[in-house]
This record gives sequence, structure tokens and C-alpha cells, in this order.
Amino acid sequence: MTPGSLLADASQRLEQALKYTSISDDAVETLKFPQTSLTVSIPVRMDDGSLKIFQGYRVRYDDTRGPGKGGVRYHPDVSLDEVQSLAFWMTFKCAALRLPFGGAKGGITVNPKELSRMELERLSRGYINAIADFIGPDVDILAPDVYTNAMIMGWMMDQYNIIKRQICPAVVTGKPVSMGGSLGREAATAMGAFFVIESTLPKFDRHPSTTTVAVQGFGNAGAILAELLFHAGYKVVAVSDSQGGVYAKNGLDIPSLRQFKDASRGVKAFYCDDTVCHTAAEEVLTNAELLALDVDILVPAALENQITEANVDTIRARLVYEVANGPITSAADRILNEKGIYVFPDILVNAGGVTVSYFEWVQNRSGLYWTLDEINQRLKQRIVEESEAIWLIARDLSIDLRTAAYVHALTRLGEAISAKGTRD
Ligand code: GLU
Repeated sequence: MTPGSLLADASQRLEQALKYTSISDDAVETLKFPQTSLTVSIPVRMDDGSLKIFQGYRVRYDDTRGPGKGGVRYHPDVSLDEVQSLAFWMTFKCAALRLPFGGAKGGITVNPKELSRMELERLSRGYINAIADFIGPDVDILAPDVYTNAMIMGWMMDQYNIIKRQICPAVVTGKPVSMGGSLGREAATAMGAFFVIESTLPKFDRHPSTTTVAVQGFGNAGAILAELLFHAGYKVVAVSDSQGGVYAKNGLDIPSLRQFKDASRGVKAFYCDDTVCHTAAEEVLTNAELLALDVDILVPAALENQITEANVDTIRARLVYEVANGPITSAADRILNEKGIYVFPDILVNAGGVTVSYFEWVQNRSGLYWTLDEINQRLKQRIVEESEAIWLIARDLSIDLRTAAYVHALTRLGEAISAKGTRD
């Protein structure tokens, strides 16, 4: 592992949690390294007739508890190091939620906003051509992540079917419902985070109507969560996207903002063109200013490494719920703990997505499809149960919630690795 890499930073969390578990040395050694990392070059015929090669990755971090599971990210900053860290987090997320999966992740280094729809489809199908022997419903199962969606998952599943000459819906989750996707999958990450917030807020003697929230990131997870919180009576006072954000002391009109949001103009244009706002109540703010707001709940729902040693001292929220994967570095995490700020970790808070992916995989394999109510009820039961278990570990061992979540996951991973034996 390269010192200073994202994976090295992610592994610090493992080191921290090991002090509180008695898992075997074999298990510890196994979990230090990604099991298999695949790098592929994907040739794509562009609309202008030229050929372009894109770099793609799929990493299976550990599959002791079941087939690899994890999304595929399309982003210009995707690298092998990032995909390995994301696969590491998936391993612990699936274990923390008691899902019968190992951890995996994929990605392509690309700015999807610069591709036409046909180029995007050719790239997605090319990715499956390149990794088809490495994935499968019992091997490694794909899903959406940053800048990928149900449409892309549909293409990926179809391409896999073409290669295998079979219909294999369970190789990809987060597909369109018309192709075997699950009801509730699109909102699942936000819904899971909402259930965690709702079930833990009373522990701090707080009530939604007097609780202010700032959400960084207005993608699938952040925007839907902001709307769920708005309808539940929370005061969502600030939201942002990659181009900046908007703030209103008495709360924003999130449903209208969601309707308005379009990628080219961003959320702040809804109220304000550049810095001139249409109503006196709203103000434009930067992402850095949003993170530093004096709110009750801060929700980082964008990308990793948003709260670092450089800006951690600006954080004033009392509760942080991590909807993005890895938004806080391990050094910043320690400082937040010292300041008495409660951080509900990503591997719990954003696990609603992979939990409903699991439900989708089960439905695909059984051929029996559930109602939206059944899905949300099962999601609520599972995530609140595991959240409560993590809360109790933190209380009993007097440790922070992230370390507790890792202890919880490590216990399950350690048991599985020991049960499997070393195959010596
Ligand atoms: N990309 C999501 C995550 O990071 C979902 C993964 C999945 O559904 O497999 O948890």
C-alpha cells in the first residue's frame, strides 16, 4: 500500500478498530490488501469517427462473505487508488449491514458530461466487454455510483447478457425497473440515511422542526435526502452542488429546487444569478462556507476528502451524517472527535443503496418482486437495527461511532475469514 494514498488513509480506520476486536492475525493480514485489482483500456469509437481509449478499473477487495458488490463510478478523477479505497469501504459496509456480499468497486476515468449519449453507451458496453470474465451474479455484482445511473446499469446488464447468451439480471443492480430493477432503489441511499437520522436524533433530545440541516452535494443521494428531510419538517437551510450553494436562514424550498436543478446551471441559479438573489431571504455561498455553517446537522453528500486537516476547525455542526463515501480524512476525523462532534459514518449512513441492491439481487434470483412498501420497511428494519448495534458498541466501549461501525463489521469479517481457513 502506498503511504499517503487514499487506501492508506482508509486503512487507518481498520488499524483503529483492531484494538477493540480479537480477530485472528490471519484475518488482519487478509484485510490489509485488495484481493484482485483489474485495470482495463476501453476503446470507444467517438461520434466524430476518432478512436479514444479510456482507463477502467474493477477491484474486488474481499469476497469471503459473498460475491463482490459495489458500484461503478464515472469521474475524471477516478484512479486505481480511489477504486481500491471504495472497494475497501464496500467490504466493511456490506459486513456492517449483514449483507451476504464482499466488497468491490469499479470506475472509469472520464467526464461523462463531455460524452454524447451514444458515446456513453459505447463506453459502458465497452467496459463490460473488458471485465465480463471478472464479474457475475455469484462473483461480483455491479451498481450505480457517482455519475452513473439506471440507464447505464441497463446497458451494462444487456451487454453482459449478449456476451453470456443468457438473461442474467442479477449481475447488475440499480437497473431500470422495466428490466428487473427494484422499486425504491433510486431513492434507497437517501432513504437509508433518512432512517438513520430519524432513529438517532431523539438520542440528542432534538426534534425535526427545530433542527437545521446543511447538505453538501445535490446528486441522487443529497437531493432526495434534502427533500425527505424537508417533508419531515426539518429546516434545510443550505444545499450546494459542484458550482456552489445557496443559504436561507428559515429554510429552502427543496421540492421546487429539485425540480429546477439542472446540471448546466446548478442549484444556486434557482434563487440567485451569480450573486444577485431574487428574494432577500437567500444568499449564495461556497462549498467551504456551507461546511462551516452553524447548523445542527451537516450532511456531506458529495465526494471524498471534503473535510480535511485544512478546514476541520471551521466545522460547527454538532452532528455529521456522512452520505458520501469517505468525505472526512482520518486526521480530520480525530479532530472532530476531540471537539465532541458526533460523526455517523459512511459505511452505515449511505448503506441504504447497497441494502436495496441486495433486495434487488434477491428478487432477481427468486423471480418474486416486492412492493415499494415492503422494500422500504425491510430497509428501515435492517438499517435501524444495525445502526442501534453500532450505537451500543460505541457506548459500551466508549469509542466514536466510526470505530464502532468498523468493530461491528470486523467481527463479522473476522469470523468468516477464520471459518474459511487458510487453504494452506
Ligand atoms: N455505489 C453505492 C455505494 O457506494 C451502492 C453500491 C451497490 O449498490 O452495490 O454504496
